[in-house]
Amino acid sequence: MRAYDIIEKKRDKKELTEEEIKFLINGYISNEIADYQMSAFLMAVYFNGMTDKECKIFTECMLHSGDVMDLSHVEGIKVDKHSTGGVGDKTTLIITPIVAACGVKVAKMSGRGLGHTGGTIDKLESIPGINVALPVKKFFDIVNSVGCCVVSQSGNLVPADKKIYALRDVTATVESMPLIASSIMSKKIASGADCILLDVKVGSGAFMKTKEDAIELSKIMVKIGYDFNRKVIALVTDMDSPLGYAIGNALEVFEACEVLNGKGPDDLKKVCVSLASNMLFMAGKGNAEECESRVLESIKNGSAMVKFKEMINAQSGDISRFENGYVNNSKIKYEVVSCFEGYIESMDTEMLGKAAMILGAGRKRKEDSIDYEAGIMLCKKTNDKIKTGDVLALFYSSSIEKCKEAEAILKNSLKIGVNEPCKASIIKAKVTINGIQNF
Ligand code: URA
Repeated sequence: MRAYDIIEKKRDKKELTEEEIKFLINGYISNEIADYQMSAFLMAVYFNGMTDKECKIFTECMLHSGDVMDLSHVEGIKVDKHSTGGVGDKTTLIITPIVAACGVKVAKMSGRGLGHTGGTIDKLESIPGINVALPVKKFFDIVNSVGCCVVSQSGNLVPADKKIYALRDVTATVESMPLIASSIMSKKIASGADCILLDVKVGSGAFMKTKEDAIELSKIMVKIGYDFNRKVIALVTDMDSPLGYAIGNALEVFEACEVLNGKGPDDLKKVCVSLASNMLFMAGKGNAEECESRVLESIKNGSAMVKFKEMINAQSGDISRFENGYVNNSKIKYEVVSCFEGYIESMDTEMLGKAAMILGAGRKRKEDSIDYEAGIMLCKKTNDKIKTGDVLALFYSSSIEKCKEAEAILKNSLKIGVNEPCKASIIKAKVTINGIQNF
């Protein structure tokens, strides 16, 4: 078998066999197939796509390229959640303890942020003392005793994806639906949960810019999940504005605590309630209404917040500075004042993510370090009426120069109009193996 023939076959829109896909992935991992041939193959997939069968085999080969978590040491049904990435997305911090407080186990492996999107592990690391690199045995013990635990992804989970993703990143082949779907699903299936909730973001801060594309990606991922005997639901949710008001690691932990304490922004609460309810539904905790009531009750009676504190404690963290109010320790606190009049019609959310990164909240390159206190607390969002002199946002950073650079980006990200915009729904669609529900 030759890589050349496989590339040619994909270029000519013919379906590849299991042997051919295995040959390609295994050869690439063992360095027998060169970057230039894999790049050509990825570009052929970018243009010609993959059939369902090819996508399943591709996912399977990636999945078995490294460690596969065996969660049989954790009792009961285990649910997991994955977000395709956004700005201000702190949902994992909120829904993990909610779901555990409702009696369903969450053994979660999360990633770090890169570029304009944040990562759950970075947010957790802004909590003093926390350990997110636990040995597997300790991870299982915490999930069994507390009900949930969030750790950083094991080094050897789906190494094929690490290598292929790095190549996609420099060959303009990231934005291919079957490649995104197999990349995400191989990692989720390798993480071992029985049920997977996918939060597929759509809008100016997301990979998917249209609802149609987000639904298409959801359908591919749901189908892969079912091919591997996992229950999967995908919710398509809005990322045309940041989720909540806080962007930046410590700021987001505080906002997550606010929601768990029954306060916090409505958009964030709504997405979290919907994600958590669907996780409970997949775990068999009742019908849709019953699951939603359980979620709301866990916030109201404080059990979700208690669960969050138990989890952070078990991971050696100290949540006390975020629990009731929070004082940001940044050297510079900077007000961004409006020079506009009118309604905020839209915000370019990716640009806001970049502004937060410039303030120090994110990484341009993988090896960059993070300022956990840095970030943005928005005061105004899409649909709000603003006038000259209003404070649009508070910036937290170590330098005034960074604030000035981020201020220009934030102001450029806003589209101001004269008429009050229509409110778009935050949950846009639900995709299951049985079909699509539009909202
Ligand atoms: N996230 C992933 O894990 N993989 C992709 O290909 C895109 C987003």
